[in-house]
Amino acid sequence: MSDYIVLDPRFEALFIGHAKLEKLWTGCRWAEGPVYVPAGKYLVWSDIPNDRLMRYDETDGGVSVFAHPVGYHNGHTLDREGRIVSCEHGGRRVSRIDHDGRTRAIATHYDGKRFNSPNDVVVKSDGSVWFSDPTYGIDTSYEGDAAPSEIGASNVYRVDAATGAVTAVVTDMVRPNGLAFSADEQTLYVADTGASHVPGHPRVIRAYDVSADGRTVANGRVFAESDAGFYDGFRVDWKENIWTSTAAGVYCYAKDGTLLGKIPVPEIVSNVTFGGPKLNRLYITGQTSLYSIFLATHAAGWKA
Ligand code: MG
Repeated sequence: MSDYIVLDPRFEALFIGHAKLEKLWTGCRWAEGPVYVPAGKYLVWSDIPNDRLMRYDETDGGVSVFAHPVGYHNGHTLDREGRIVSCEHGGRRVSRIDHDGRTRAIATHYDGKRFNSPNDVVVKSDGSVWFSDPTYGIDTSYEGDAAPSEIGASNVYRVDAATGAVTAVVTDMVRPNGLAFSADEQTLYVADTGASHVPGHPRVIRAYDVSADGRTVANGRVFAESDAGFYDGFRVDWKENIWTSTAAGVYCYAKDGTLLGKIPVPEIVSNVTFGGPKLNRLYITGQTSLYSIFLATHAAGWKA
């Protein structure tokens, strides 16, 4: 099996021909939510049904349990202070692991109602926290605890860094899931996995223009439509290419929406994130396993 499928010549400059997809660990029931911690040279990811966080130590390849039980975490990201921000299905909240090791809530309610089950999260350069809130963690008790939705909708929310105020920023999706800002933060991308609940609903990543004050979005439109299951989580590199999960592996899109190429992965991919000291190693969570592959590009934010 080739490690790459080139669909557009631009893809040739983004991968390293002899770099192989590496299977780093297996043994999860559903792996998701990878976040790389540069100061510790490790990656943390979620094994949601087993209610645990795993840690991959980049220095020796060791894998250990980072936290268990943990409250059915799903997505993670790193904030501007290097702290892990978490989406908790069980706690139905977004929280942060502070430098003293304690977990503290960032957002628990919207308009007086509990969230459904925060799924994926990103932090903008102004410190605001943006997260999706579909129902997957309350639909059944497999990845959380079954419960009705109090809000009655699945939205994307923004938590203001200064005030903690929570506002709904994307309200036109069936089940918003993965999300990421473009490198220039002019665009917010959000995946909609609503076909899980509305048969035939388009399996898409939508793009939204971020307002000049950075607090709202508008002009939602389809950025890409999947031919292989769902887009779940994804990340953007410094050249504005979108590296996304699909059921057939990792797909790479240019900013103009062209599918540049694919990296086949032998399991359903849930999330990806850039890691390594140079942020040029794409970590991939896929169903039961953790994978990685070195690329000829890197995440936005890395400075030579
Ligand atoms: Mg997700």
